[in-house]
Amino acid sequence: TQVTTDMSTLTREVEKFAEDKKLEIETLKVREAYRKEFMGNVSHELKTPLFTVQGYILTLLDGAYKDKAVRKKYLTRASKGVERLIYIVKDLDMITKLETGDLHLKFETFDMVELIQQSFDLLEMKASKKNITLTFDMDYEEPIWVRADKERIQQVLTNLIVNSIKYGKSGGTTEISIENLIKNKVIVRVTDNGEGIEKENIPRLFERFYRVDKSGSRKEGGSGLGLSIVKHIIEAHGEKIYVESVFGVGSEFSFTMEKSQAAPQPSAAAQIT
Ligand code: ADP
Repeated sequence: TQVTTDMSTLTREVEKFAEDKKLEIETLKVREAYRKEFMGNVSHELKTPLFTVQGYILTLLDGAYKDKAVRKKYLTRASKGVERLIYIVKDLDMITKLETGDLHLKFETFDMVELIQQSFDLLEMKASKKNITLTFDMDYEEPIWVRADKERIQQVLTNLIVNSIKYGKSGGTTEISIENLIKNKVIVRVTDNGEGIEKENIPRLFERFYRVDKSGSRKEGGSGLGLSIVKHIIEAHGEKIYVESVFGVGSEFSFTMEKSQAAPQPSAAAQIT
């Protein structure tokens, strides 16, 4: 009987080993598929602007450069294409850092109201070009201190506001607001009355490279990475992002932020004066 017991223990161990290996292989396969899909998406995203830029340069070389006005027009377009490529590469860099955990958040205490105001000022012009009005509906006259990575949160705000403009309708409005949620949380909302999103597309919005209307979105530029970057940043802060949208009516993207218990300490230099 001793031998049979040992044999069955051994069999169990062999089976467990095989099972572990199988799992390991499955994980590797999933990772490999993910990597392939990512690379495929990257080259696809880069191809369009690269071919556009190349097209303008070849036309110029072909003789178009002789005409001053045409030269300027084509060089401007080529430069826009390069600008787009730079945006895509920056977004790719950011998403890679976020997904590999290489992006370390730099926490500081800052006034969220002021940061919203800054983003608002930066984007007001862009909105008015599309005949969209930006409004900032503030509940408070007072600063709202939060502790977060200011630069990254500004990126979140910019991405959400830019999207509301990109997918907004001429004559429409984007409303930005901040309000108390529960005792130590605030919620920031970016609400538009733009094209809205069909119900079945909502769950996929935050996937990288996902776009609802491939052709329409491409016309609007962007890399399809904006919302996945936004989600990563918010989740890296331990916070939540929400979306509500009605097709043809509009969308609301909102995220939570933890309030800081105290205003930032004045710097040493400020204390001396
Ligand atoms: P993109 O670079 O295409 O804007 P995002 O990741 O920022 O990429 O957004 C993904 C997709 O979600 C967009 O292509 C668009 O279809 C949809 N979307 C995002 N924001 C809005 C919005 N405010 N209104 C309608 N659709 C939106």
